[in-house]
Amino acid sequence: MEVSLIYDLSLSELASLLVAWGEPAYRARQIWRGLYRNFWKTPEEFTNLPASLRKKLTESLLFNNLVPVTTLRSSDGETLKTLFRLQDGKAVETVLMKYDPSVAVHQAHRDHPGQGRRTVCISTQVGCAMGCVFCATGQMGFKRHLSSGEIVAQVMYFARQLLAQGEVITNVVVMGMGEPFHNYENTMSAIDRLNDRGGYNFGARRITISTVGLVPAIRRFAAEKRQVNLAISLHAANDELRDSMLPINKSYTIDELLAACRDFIAITGRRITFEWALVNGVNDTPEQAQLLARKLKGMLCHVNAIPLNPTDGYSGQATTRKHAEEFKEVLSRFGIPCTVRLRRGMDIHAGCGQLVSEY
Ligand code: SF4
Repeated sequence: MEVSLIYDLSLSELASLLVAWGEPAYRARQIWRGLYRNFWKTPEEFTNLPASLRKKLTESLLFNNLVPVTTLRSSDGETLKTLFRLQDGKAVETVLMKYDPSVAVHQAHRDHPGQGRRTVCISTQVGCAMGCVFCATGQMGFKRHLSSGEIVAQVMYFARQLLAQGEVITNVVVMGMGEPFHNYENTMSAIDRLNDRGGYNFGARRITISTVGLVPAIRRFAAEKRQVNLAISLHAANDELRDSMLPINKSYTIDELLAACRDFIAITGRRITFEWALVNGVNDTPEQAQLLARKLKGMLCHVNAIPLNPTDGYSGQATTRKHAEEFKEVLSRFGIPCTVRLRRGMDIHAGCGQLVSEY
């Protein structure tokens, strides 16, 4: 029988469990703080609890279900990618990106962001059902959803690692393996747990969820009026091209997707980021840039363009610097803010799913 993961429990579920064991409910807060403030990862570390309760916790709950198998470090030392084995033997990847690594990023940065960011990119599924052609995770197909606790535990792992260096995570991006809106409930429960003021207390505004465009889920997300940022993997400005790159487009056209985005902005007042993997000669052309600019006209948005991370299962190649700059230039002319990001961690296969594919 599989033992429950402690990170799968909400505070009230933990309190109910303790009461059922005949323990006072206040023990739940002690455990909660141990998990989410001190990042303790074994029951033995909870020396503020009676030995009998520590023993019961050891027997009844799993504290550490992510076994790090490999960690790769990019040659510039700024990106770390860890492959974790889960309890059932499946594997996921989580990435830590250090921006301005020479700046010590401690607690104050979380509340008053300045120079230096420590961003963790987490996974929500093993594999992915969306089948985006350029993506290593999409190429491996869908295996299973991660539980909310398995999502939270990835953040806790890196929070612990950074704490050892006196640093903190400043941003969480839900852009690793999987489509978070396909695993909506578990993803939102995980975010609620990270937000919890009595626990990790990580601000929703420092979290970004990226979706390939599940329109009903975008509408649901908008209605919930969370403070979490939304990013859309767009990658093409006309349906014919997007159909060929992202199969989800056959279910929800670009116009339907952008209508949901406009409604999201109207409801939440939040800016949307559009992600664009620049593929040489495919979607990095002036025509695509102009079409995109027209589609996004008047929207509170930003385009994040990044040269494609090539994968074995897709013949497309990364754009050139020249094409990337021209792409940005066209958008700028139309007043659409655009950033062309550096490819981080290319030498460690930082594109999602690439390390698991090898594993
Ligand atoms: S890009 Fe995202 S949504 Fe598409 S297949 Fe990869 S993991 Fe899934």
